[in-house]
Amino acid sequence: MTNWQRSLLSFVFLFIMLVFAYQQTLAPAPRADSDLDYAALSRHVSVIAARPHTMGSAANREVRDYIVAYFESLGLATGVQKATVVYRHPTRPTNATIIGNVENIIARLPGASTALDGGADDLVLMAHYDSRPDGPGAADDASGTASVMEVARIMVAGPRPVHDVVFLITDGEEMGLLGAQGFFRQHPAAKKVGLVLDLEARGSYGASSMFETSENNAWLIDHLLESAPDLVASSLSYEIYRYMPNDTDMSISKGEGIAGLNFAFVAGLFDYHAMTDTPENLDPGTLAQQANYLLGTALHFANLHDWQSAKGDKTYFNLWRGTLVSYSQGVAVAIGLVVLILGLWVFGAALRAGTISKAPSGLVY
Ligand SMILES: [Zn+2]
Repeated sequence: MTNWQRSLLSFVFLFIMLVFAYQQTLAPAPRADSDLDYAALSRHVSVIAARPHTMGSAANREVRDYIVAYFESLGLATGVQKATVVYRHPTRPTNATIIGNVENIIARLPGASTALDGGADDLVLMAHYDSRPDGPGAADDASGTASVMEVARIMVAGPRPVHDVVFLITDGEEMGLLGAQGFFRQHPAAKKVGLVLDLEARGSYGASSMFETSENNAWLIDHLLESAPDLVASSLSYEIYRYMPNDTDMSISKGEGIAGLNFAFVAGLFDYHAMTDTPENLDPGTLAQQANYLLGTALHFANLHDWQSAKGDKTYFNLWRGTLVSYSQGVAVAIGLVVLILGLWVFGAALRAGTISKAPSGLVY
């Protein structure tokens, strides 16, 4: 093979890898085999994100009433938790203390079994309904709220789940995760929560991915693989997220030691916390993907008897869409050692072949 042919082969290989990588950043077409009513999803988003509705505003109360009326129309026991939350960001000392009156929406679908895991066996499907004052919040987080509402409709119509399912639509997320703090630190029902599935957004289109897990995620990853269609996930994205100053409601539940999976989409960052975060700018494929993740995982975990079977953490990433590779920490260490030995071998071979050489003696750096 000539040098020229080798270069061409490398270029083609790199191009195919880039196409693969790019394809994974796009949302798939809405699945035709889903039980979701996509028109209903969009309708909910249009109502919730008709205008900015920040915590405490009249517009936010209208949104609250719309969601409460919807859950009640499904026949779910629905309530509004009114809580006062005093909060100061733990790592930003310049931030002032925030005092907020939140109104969380809580609807419950009773499961067939009680106290499967020593009492903490409720499944929470979570999103927030408030928006920032400077944006209608179609993606952030009407998309999540609409998904929870639509999944609730399907679960109510279906067979009774094993676990209790709590549909939790929080308030005041944008003011500092106030609603989540009100629920997970003050509400008695929080003690019964064993697992949280959270939906968030930081953009307006693109593939949604599972970007955050709680500690000891091995069992979560195993069951996620079985239940989430068109799954995009990477443990690397979480490692990056950990070091960014971002938070979602799951930071609070996770801080209380509750297991969780967090889904979000991030393409179209210019629409994040902006007046352009409108229903028109929200990609229907992205909305459908988020809702399908929630539907698949909610039905799976709600009917799974044994939560927490596999212990430890896992490394995971997509080879291509829908195909996730995952392995345990032990395997990750073994792979690291093999790569290290291979690297040393290549280095030694290059030294012997004279491709690289020691610096001439007497040269000081
Ligand atoms: Zn949000």
